[in-house]
Amino acid sequence: MKLHAELPDAILQEFLPRCRSCYGLCCVALARSIPDGFPETRLPGEPCSFLQPDFRCTIHAELSARGLFGCETYHCLGAGQMVSGLFPSGSWRLADSPDEAREIYRAFLLGEGLKLTLWYLAEAGTLLPVQELWARINRLLSKGLALCGFSREDFFLYDLEEYLLRAHSLLRQTWSMLRRQLSWKPRRRPPNCVGRCFQGWDTRGMNFSTSSLAQADFQGCDLWGANFLGADIQGADFRGADLSEALFLTPGQIGRTITDETTRLPQALLFCLNGR
Ligand code: SF4
Repeated sequence: MKLHAELPDAILQEFLPRCRSCYGLCCVALARSIPDGFPETRLPGEPCSFLQPDFRCTIHAELSARGLFGCETYHCLGAGQMVSGLFPSGSWRLADSPDEAREIYRAFLLGEGLKLTLWYLAEAGTLLPVQELWARINRLLSKGLALCGFSREDFFLYDLEEYLLRAHSLLRQTWSMLRRQLSWKPRRRPPNCVGRCFQGWDTRGMNFSTSSLAQADFQGCDLWGANFLGADIQGADFRGADLSEALFLTPGQIGRTITDETTRLPQALLFCLNGR
């Protein structure tokens, strides 16, 4: 049974990173560490030493060969160009004061959170069993997409926290309604999922949201309706698995897993991973 309708390309375009329109924000605004697959351990506001004056990465073509999987798989869902657009007169390098540069970094963190929430809302608005929520979801999604085009002043004046609370409340309602509509009995995930082998399990409809599933083995599993919202799936093995109807996966999550040509991915993820 199909769970998702297709997301229109026009909406998916909103989540494609456009690094050429970004001031290299992910390479300066976020804390990074060597164990997480970045070249240096540094604090927010410390630019990576491989970031060139034109905001390109000196070693972009070598990220994979150097084992920099953190850089390789990071996906801002379009927050970089959105936040750079809020500061059209200059980048963090040209900021007049440390406070102004910090404002840019803060905007990037807010933009990242907003884009992630919009990604979830966009998916929720395609879930066929919850069509009675679509009008509300799409109103909130449109509002959030409009917010991405606000001026800097209006963006900071907007009550983003209240918006995110409303969005996450609606996402919880979406999940509850989905379970009711499909008559899913509550199925608890097992404790201690890190490294667990799920081969042979019935993983359909399982709620893995916010779970730690690092290095878990999902080879060959049918993950229809499995909810991965906020789950840590770094190093999980999805070779031969069917994730085409899995819920709330992001490009950043799937980039850190093991997949192969037999792994089936959701349409929106394929678009974002191939369209970069
Ligand atoms: S190595 Fe390149 S992609 Fe990674 S943080 Fe540095 S500049 Fe950014």
